[in-house]
Amino acid sequence: MKARYSVIVPMFNEEEVITHTYERLKQVMDGSGDTYELVFVNDGSRDRTAALMRKISSRDENVKLIDFSRNFGHQVAITAGMDYAEGQAVVVIDADLQDPPEVILQMIAKWKEGYDVVYAKRLKRHGETIFKKVTAKLFYRLLSSMTSVEIPTDTGDFRLIDRKVCDVLRGLKEKNRYVRGLVSWVGFRQTMVEYVREERFAGETKYPLKKMIRFALDGITSFSHKPLKIASYIGFFLSFSSFIYLFFVLFQKMFTSWTIPGWASIVGVNLLFNGIVLMLLGVIGEYIGRIYDESKDRPLYIVRETQGYAENESMDNR
Ligand code: UDP
Ligand code: MG
Repeated sequence: MKARYSVIVPMFNEEEVITHTYERLKQVMDGSGDTYELVFVNDGSRDRTAALMRKISSRDENVKLIDFSRNFGHQVAITAGMDYAEGQAVVVIDADLQDPPEVILQMIAKWKEGYDVVYAKRLKRHGETIFKKVTAKLFYRLLSSMTSVEIPTDTGDFRLIDRKVCDVLRGLKEKNRYVRGLVSWVGFRQTMVEYVREERFAGETKYPLKKMIRFALDGITSFSHKPLKIASYIGFFLSFSSFIYLFFVLFQKMFTSWTIPGWASIVGVNLLFNGIVLMLLGVIGEYIGRIYDESKDRPLYIVRETQGYAENESMDNR
Protein backbone atom coordinates (compact mmCIF):
# COMPACT_ATOMS: atom_id res chain seq x y z
CA MET A 1 0.00 0.00 0.00
CA LYS A 2 1.19 3.47 -0.77
CA ALA A 3 2.08 5.69 2.15
CA ARG A 4 0.02 8.84 2.69
CA TYR A 5 2.98 11.11 3.39
CA SER A 6 6.42 11.16 1.78
CA VAL A 7 9.31 12.99 3.39
CA ILE A 8 12.24 13.61 1.04
CA VAL A 9 15.63 14.08 2.65
CA PRO A 10 18.56 14.94 0.32
CA MET A 11 21.92 14.05 1.84
CA PHE A 12 25.45 14.84 0.89
CA ASN A 13 28.12 13.76 3.39
CA GLU A 14 25.76 13.80 6.33
CA GLU A 15 27.15 10.89 8.39
CA GLU A 16 27.18 13.00 11.53
CA VAL A 17 23.50 13.82 11.44
CA ILE A 18 21.73 11.01 9.61
CA THR A 19 20.95 8.75 12.57
CA HIS A 20 19.70 11.59 14.69
CA THR A 21 17.69 13.07 11.83
CA TYR A 22 16.10 9.71 11.16
CA GLU A 23 15.05 9.36 14.79
CA ARG A 24 13.55 12.87 14.98
CA LEU A 25 11.70 12.38 11.70
CA LYS A 26 10.41 8.99 12.76
CA GLN A 27 9.15 10.37 16.04
CA VAL A 28 7.33 13.25 14.35
CA MET A 29 5.87 11.19 11.53
CA ASP A 30 4.72 8.42 13.90
CA GLY A 31 2.73 11.19 15.55
CA SER A 32 1.02 12.13 12.30
CA GLY A 33 -1.33 9.19 12.79
CA ASP A 34 -1.04 8.02 9.20
CA THR A 35 1.21 5.96 6.97
CA TYR A 36 4.41 7.59 5.74
CA GLU A 37 7.67 6.93 3.96
CA LEU A 38 11.03 8.61 4.41
CA VAL A 39 12.78 8.92 1.05
CA PHE A 40 16.50 9.33 1.66
CA VAL A 41 18.40 10.49 -1.40
CA ASN A 42 22.13 9.95 -1.18
CA ASP A 43 23.65 12.58 -3.45
CA GLY A 44 26.99 10.87 -4.02
CA SER A 45 28.30 11.18 -0.48
CA ARG A 46 31.94 10.28 0.03
CA ASP A 47 31.55 9.36 3.69
CA ARG A 48 29.51 6.70 5.50
CA THR A 49 26.12 8.27 4.71
CA ALA A 50 25.12 5.54 2.22
CA ALA A 51 26.12 2.71 4.51
CA LEU A 52 24.21 4.20 7.43
CA MET A 53 21.18 4.76 5.21
CA ARG A 54 21.24 1.17 4.07
CA LYS A 55 21.32 -0.01 7.64
CA ILE A 56 18.39 2.19 8.65
CA SER A 57 16.40 1.22 5.58
CA SER A 58 16.85 -2.51 6.14
CA ARG A 59 15.56 -2.16 9.69
CA ASP A 60 12.64 0.16 8.96
CA GLU A 61 10.37 -0.58 6.03
CA ASN A 62 9.18 3.04 5.98
CA VAL A 63 12.64 4.18 4.94
CA LYS A 64 13.55 4.11 1.27
CA LEU A 65 16.88 4.81 -0.23
CA ILE A 66 17.88 6.25 -3.56
CA ASP A 67 21.58 6.16 -4.13
CA PHE A 68 23.04 8.40 -6.85
CA SER A 69 26.06 7.33 -8.85
CA ARG A 70 27.78 10.62 -7.97
CA ASN A 71 27.07 14.09 -6.58
CA PHE A 72 24.40 15.72 -8.74
CA GLY A 73 23.51 18.57 -6.41
CA HIS A 74 20.87 19.42 -3.85
CA GLN A 75 18.16 20.54 -6.30
CA VAL A 76 18.53 17.41 -8.41
CA ALA A 77 18.40 15.23 -5.30
CA ILE A 78 15.09 16.85 -4.37
CA THR A 79 13.81 16.24 -7.88
CA ALA A 80 14.73 12.56 -7.70
CA GLY A 81 12.94 12.32 -4.37
CA MET A 82 9.81 13.72 -6.01
CA ASP A 83 10.10 11.16 -8.82
CA TYR A 84 10.15 8.31 -6.33
CA ALA A 85 7.79 9.66 -3.65
CA GLU A 86 4.42 7.92 -3.55
CA GLY A 87 2.57 9.88 -0.89
CA GLN A 88 -0.48 12.10 -1.29
CA ALA A 89 1.47 14.89 0.37
CA VAL A 90 5.19 15.25 -0.23
CA VAL A 91 7.50 17.10 2.15
CA VAL A 92 11.06 18.22 1.39
CA ILE A 93 13.36 18.80 4.35
CA ASP A 94 17.11 19.34 4.87
CA ALA A 95 19.04 16.55 6.53
CA ASP A 96 20.81 18.75 9.07
CA LEU A 97 17.80 19.52 11.30
CA GLN A 98 17.99 23.23 10.54
CA ASP A 99 14.38 22.78 9.52
CA PRO A 100 12.65 21.43 12.63
CA PRO A 101 10.73 18.25 11.69
CA GLU A 102 7.92 19.24 14.09
CA VAL A 103 6.87 21.95 11.62
CA ILE A 104 5.80 19.16 9.23
CA LEU A 105 2.75 18.54 11.40
CA GLN A 106 1.70 22.19 11.03
CA MET A 107 2.15 21.84 7.27
CA ILE A 108 0.00 18.73 7.25
CA ALA A 109 -2.72 20.61 9.15
CA LYS A 110 -2.72 23.32 6.47
CA TRP A 111 -2.77 20.68 3.75
CA LYS A 112 -5.84 19.13 5.34
CA GLU A 113 -7.48 22.57 5.22
CA GLY A 114 -7.17 22.31 1.45
CA TYR A 115 -3.90 24.04 0.51
CA ASP A 116 -1.77 22.45 -2.20
CA VAL A 117 1.57 24.03 -1.29
CA VAL A 118 2.65 24.91 2.23
CA TYR A 119 6.04 26.56 2.36
CA ALA A 120 7.95 27.39 5.51
CA LYS A 121 9.11 30.95 5.98
CA ARG A 122 12.16 31.55 8.11
CA LEU A 123 11.57 34.18 10.78
CA LYS A 124 15.11 33.94 12.05
CA ARG A 125 18.20 32.01 11.12
CA HIS A 126 20.25 30.73 14.02
CA GLY A 127 23.86 29.71 13.87
CA GLU A 128 24.66 30.83 10.34
CA THR A 129 27.46 33.17 9.41
CA ILE A 130 26.74 36.87 8.86
CA PHE A 131 28.05 36.37 5.33
CA LYS A 132 25.48 33.66 4.61
CA LYS A 133 22.62 35.69 6.07
CA VAL A 134 23.54 38.88 4.21
CA THR A 135 24.15 37.20 0.85
CA ALA A 136 20.95 35.17 1.19
CA LYS A 137 18.94 38.28 1.99
CA LEU A 138 20.45 40.23 -0.92
CA PHE A 139 19.95 37.34 -3.29
CA TYR A 140 16.25 36.88 -2.52
CA ARG A 141 15.63 40.65 -2.84
CA LEU A 142 17.55 40.81 -6.11
CA LEU A 143 15.75 37.82 -7.54
CA SER A 144 12.31 39.15 -6.65
CA SER A 145 13.15 42.52 -8.19
CA MET A 146 14.05 40.79 -11.45
CA THR A 147 11.29 38.28 -11.96
CA SER A 148 7.58 38.42 -12.54
CA VAL A 149 7.01 35.09 -10.80
CA GLU A 150 6.37 35.76 -7.15
CA ILE A 151 8.90 33.64 -5.31
CA PRO A 152 8.42 34.06 -1.55
CA THR A 153 11.46 35.57 0.16
CA ASP A 154 13.25 33.87 3.04
CA THR A 155 12.00 30.40 2.25
CA GLY A 156 14.10 27.40 1.44
CA ASP A 157 13.04 24.10 -0.02
CA PHE A 158 11.41 23.07 3.25
CA ARG A 159 7.79 22.71 2.16
CA LEU A 160 4.86 20.40 1.63
CA ILE A 161 3.32 19.88 -1.78
CA ASP A 162 0.24 17.99 -2.78
CA ARG A 163 0.41 14.96 -5.08
CA LYS A 164 -0.99 16.93 -8.03
CA VAL A 165 1.67 19.64 -7.64
CA CYS A 166 4.34 16.96 -7.42
CA ASP A 167 3.08 15.41 -10.66
CA VAL A 168 3.17 18.78 -12.44
CA LEU A 169 6.73 19.42 -11.20
CA ARG A 170 7.84 16.01 -12.45
CA GLY A 171 6.67 17.07 -15.89
CA LEU A 172 8.98 20.10 -15.91
CA LYS A 173 12.10 18.76 -17.49
CA GLU A 174 14.54 21.65 -17.17
CA LYS A 175 18.06 20.72 -16.20
CA ASN A 176 19.32 23.68 -14.18
CA ARG A 177 16.59 23.46 -11.62
CA TYR A 178 15.65 26.03 -9.08
CA VAL A 179 13.00 23.99 -7.34
CA ARG A 180 11.51 26.64 -5.05
CA GLY A 181 11.00 28.92 -8.04
CA LEU A 182 9.31 26.14 -10.00
CA VAL A 183 6.97 25.46 -7.10
CA SER A 184 5.90 29.11 -7.10
CA TRP A 185 5.62 29.13 -10.85
CA VAL A 186 3.12 26.26 -11.00
CA GLY A 187 0.61 28.16 -8.87
CA PHE A 188 -2.18 26.28 -7.05
CA ARG A 189 -3.38 27.29 -3.59
CA GLN A 190 -0.30 28.21 -1.62
CA THR A 191 0.13 29.23 1.99
CA MET A 192 2.88 29.35 4.57
CA VAL A 193 3.82 28.49 8.10
CA GLU A 194 6.52 30.43 9.94
CA TYR A 195 9.42 28.91 11.78
CA VAL A 196 12.78 29.69 13.29
CA ARG A 197 15.66 28.12 11.44
CA GLU A 198 17.88 26.23 13.84
CA GLU A 199 21.57 25.74 13.90
CA ARG A 200 22.97 22.84 11.92
CA PHE A 201 22.84 19.81 14.22
CA ALA A 202 26.35 18.61 13.35
CA GLY A 203 28.84 18.75 10.52
CA GLU A 204 29.27 21.78 8.34
CA THR A 205 27.45 23.34 5.43
CA LYS A 206 27.45 21.40 2.17
CA TYR A 207 26.98 24.65 0.28
CA PRO A 208 30.40 26.20 -0.20
CA LEU A 209 30.57 29.56 -1.98
CA LYS A 210 30.97 27.92 -5.38
CA LYS A 211 27.73 25.96 -5.03
CA MET A 212 25.98 29.03 -3.64
CA ILE A 213 26.94 31.09 -6.68
CA ARG A 214 25.81 28.41 -9.07
CA PHE A 215 22.56 28.08 -7.20
CA ALA A 216 21.99 31.85 -7.31
CA LEU A 217 22.74 32.00 -11.03
CA ASP A 218 20.35 29.10 -11.68
CA GLY A 219 17.65 30.94 -9.78
CA ILE A 220 18.14 34.18 -11.66
CA THR A 221 18.63 32.76 -15.14
CA SER A 222 15.69 30.36 -14.76
CA PHE A 223 13.28 33.10 -13.89
CA SER A 224 14.55 36.30 -15.44
CA HIS A 225 15.95 37.68 -18.68
CA LYS A 226 16.84 40.99 -17.11
CA PRO A 227 20.62 40.38 -16.99
CA LEU A 228 20.56 39.97 -20.78
CA LYS A 229 19.03 43.40 -21.07
CA ILE A 230 21.78 45.06 -19.05
CA ALA A 231 23.79 45.26 -22.27
CA SER A 232 21.15 47.32 -24.00
CA TYR A 233 20.66 49.63 -21.02
CA ILE A 234 24.37 50.30 -20.69
CA GLY A 235 24.73 50.68 -24.45
CA PHE A 236 21.93 53.20 -24.50
CA PHE A 237 23.37 55.16 -21.61
CA LEU A 238 26.83 55.22 -23.18
CA SER A 239 25.68 56.37 -26.61
CA PHE A 240 23.59 59.09 -25.01
CA SER A 241 26.50 60.37 -22.91
CA SER A 242 28.94 60.21 -25.86
CA PHE A 243 26.53 62.28 -27.86
CA ILE A 244 26.50 64.98 -25.18
CA TYR A 245 30.27 64.78 -24.93
CA LEU A 246 30.56 65.28 -28.69
CA PHE A 247 29.03 68.73 -28.32
CA PHE A 248 31.62 69.53 -25.69
CA VAL A 249 34.45 68.40 -27.98
CA LEU A 250 33.12 70.43 -30.89
CA PHE A 251 32.78 73.45 -28.67
CA GLN A 252 36.42 73.09 -27.57
CA LYS A 253 37.61 72.68 -31.12
CA MET A 254 35.83 75.73 -32.42
CA PHE A 255 36.01 78.24 -29.61
CA THR A 256 39.08 77.40 -27.47
CA SER A 257 42.75 76.68 -28.04
CA TRP A 258 42.82 73.88 -25.48
CA THR A 259 44.93 70.88 -26.62
CA ILE A 260 44.53 67.13 -26.02
CA PRO A 261 45.95 66.37 -22.57
CA GLY A 262 47.47 62.90 -23.18
CA TRP A 263 46.85 59.20 -23.16
CA ALA A 264 45.78 58.47 -19.55
CA SER A 265 42.16 59.15 -20.29
CA ILE A 266 42.26 56.99 -23.41
CA VAL A 267 43.74 54.05 -21.56
CA GLY A 268 41.25 54.51 -18.73
CA VAL A 269 38.26 54.59 -21.00
CA ASN A 270 39.58 51.60 -22.92
CA LEU A 271 40.01 49.47 -19.82
CA LEU A 272 36.61 50.42 -18.52
CA PHE A 273 34.81 49.58 -21.72
CA ASN A 274 36.68 46.35 -22.33
CA GLY A 275 35.73 45.32 -18.80
CA ILE A 276 32.09 46.09 -19.42
CA VAL A 277 32.08 44.24 -22.72
CA LEU A 278 33.68 41.14 -21.21
CA MET A 279 31.26 41.17 -18.31
CA LEU A 280 28.28 41.35 -20.63
CA LEU A 281 29.69 38.55 -22.77
CA GLY A 282 29.89 36.55 -19.56
CA VAL A 283 26.21 37.19 -18.86
CA ILE A 284 25.31 35.98 -22.32
CA GLY A 285 27.58 32.97 -21.80
CA GLU A 286 25.70 31.98 -18.65
CA TYR A 287 22.49 31.78 -20.63
CA ILE A 288 23.99 30.06 -23.65
CA GLY A 289 25.62 27.46 -21.40
CA ARG A 290 22.25 26.68 -19.93
CA ILE A 291 20.61 26.47 -23.33
CA TYR A 292 23.35 24.00 -24.25
CA ASP A 293 22.63 21.93 -21.13
CA GLU A 294 18.98 21.71 -22.06
CA SER A 295 19.70 20.72 -25.63
CA LYS A 296 21.96 17.82 -24.65
CA ASP A 297 18.98 16.14 -23.10
CA ARG A 298 20.95 14.01 -20.69
CA PRO A 299 19.09 12.50 -17.75
CA LEU A 300 19.00 14.71 -14.68
CA TYR A 301 20.54 12.06 -12.44
CA ILE A 302 21.75 8.47 -12.46
CA VAL A 303 20.64 6.05 -9.77
CA ARG A 304 23.13 3.39 -8.74
CA GLU A 305 20.83 1.52 -6.42
CA THR A 306 17.53 1.76 -4.60
CA GLN A 307 16.45 0.06 -1.43
CA GLY A 308 13.06 -0.32 0.20
CA TYR A 309 11.12 -0.74 -3.02
CA ALA A 310 9.63 -4.11 -3.97
CA GLU A 311 11.87 -6.04 -6.36
CA ASN A 312 10.10 -5.44 -9.69
CA GLU A 313 8.65 -2.17 -8.63
CA SER A 314 11.86 -0.28 -8.19
CA MET A 315 12.67 0.59 -11.76
CA ASP A 316 9.43 0.76 -13.70
CA ASN A 317 7.65 3.99 -14.58
CA ARG A 318 10.51 6.12 -13.44
N1 UDP B 1 22.89 18.70 -0.21
C1 UDP B 1 22.82 17.77 -1.24
N2 UDP B 1 23.73 17.87 -2.27
C2 UDP B 1 24.68 18.86 -2.31
C3 UDP B 1 24.70 19.82 -1.27
C4 UDP B 1 23.78 19.71 -0.23
O1 UDP B 1 21.99 16.88 -1.23
O2 UDP B 1 25.46 18.88 -3.26
C5 UDP B 1 21.90 18.59 0.91
C6 UDP B 1 22.51 18.55 2.30
O3 UDP B 1 22.88 17.25 2.67
C7 UDP B 1 21.36 19.10 3.14
C8 UDP B 1 20.70 20.08 2.21
O4 UDP B 1 21.12 19.76 0.89
O5 UDP B 1 20.42 18.09 3.47
C9 UDP B 1 21.05 21.53 2.53
O6 UDP B 1 22.46 21.67 2.62
P1 UDP B 1 23.18 22.48 3.77
O7 UDP B 1 22.46 22.28 5.06
O8 UDP B 1 24.63 22.12 3.76
O9 UDP B 1 23.00 23.97 3.25
P2 UDP B 1 22.81 25.28 4.14
O10 UDP B 1 21.76 24.97 5.16
O11 UDP B 1 24.13 25.55 4.74
O12 UDP B 1 22.39 26.31 3.14
MG1 MG C 1 21.77 23.46 6.42
